[in-house]
Amino acid sequence: MWLITIDPDKCQGDGECGDVCPVTILSVVEVGGKKITQVTGNADDCMGCSSCVATCTHEAITVVEM
Ligand code: SF4
Repeated sequence: MWLITIDPDKCQGDGECGDVCPVTILSVVEVGGKKITQVTGNADDCMGCSSCVATCTHEAITVVEM
């Protein structure tokens, strides 16, 4: 099982992480007028591949095994 953390201060909501996620659990949402990515799918589906981490140019995502 993997813990996905997205820093809302670093995230720019460009959605590139969601585009590469093989299990499509990341989506861009609007919170308080700002677009950010959140885990909108089932976090249990995360494979821990870290594609989202590697893709994010803002270093906003961490994925660690629980
Ligand atoms: S680690 Fe892989 S499966 Fe998990 S959220 Fe990131 S891209 Fe998706």
